[in-house]
Amino acid sequence: MSFKKNYETVLSNIEKAKEKSPYHQDVTLVAVTKTYEADIINSAIDQGITHIGENRVQEIQKKYPEVKNTGKVDWHLIGSLQTNKVKYIIDKVSLIHSLDRYDLAKEINKRALSIDKVQDCLIQVKISDEESKRGLAMEDCSHLIKSCLEDFSNIRIRGLMGMAPYFDDSEETRQYFSKLKELFDETKDSHSAGDHFDTLSMGMSNDYTIAIEEGATMVRIGSALFSD
Ligand SMILES: *Cc1c(COP(=O)(O)O)cnc(C)c1O
Repeated sequence: MSFKKNYETVLSNIEKAKEKSPYHQDVTLVAVTKTYEADIINSAIDQGITHIGENRVQEIQKKYPEVKNTGKVDWHLIGSLQTNKVKYIIDKVSLIHSLDRYDLAKEINKRALSIDKVQDCLIQVKISDEESKRGLAMEDCSHLIKSCLEDFSNIRIRGLMGMAPYFDDSEETRQYFSKLKELFDETKDSHSAGDHFDTLSMGMSNDYTIAIEEGATMVRIGSALFSD
């Protein structure tokens, strides 16, 4: 199991990238544990992981009772979310990274209200033209944020999430991240998203150092941590 070594490398790369970033931001590491069993996740938690990311509701439901220490670990839903599955995760996740439509916000608000919770969410933004990448068009973001603020008392929009296309040369992702950072800053500076807009989730195993240099405050890393 090479997790320990991978983890040290990732932490050190994060520190180096932070030094290069002009924004002096803090960076939260979300360990993406999709496809990994609970024993591997538990061992990662023993070694210091405090945020875990899963992309499927079913996997969260299965693993949630098996992962120890749940009180000290924040669960993140990073994959697309069907409206009819919100009810299964609303009591489990600290942050939903994939809010991309009004319908979904409405359901999240309803379920959060029913358990007296304010659910933190990120708006997932489509920053590349790839068909496979989901998310809201950049120009539609401010409208959804405004609607959430006006209509949904039990949702708190904490920021934005985006995914760059894959490139063999990760330097090519930089333009996508800087575009999202620009939208993030505009939104924050306009105060149109409320007072809690502080999270920019971008960067995965292939490109997290570039994303941090461009202002990411949260990175979602799977294979760089867990693969051999
Ligand atoms: C799988 C996944 C990640 C992590 O990908 P790696 O390349 O393994 O680091 C990050 N974000 C989302 C939305 C994912 O589905």
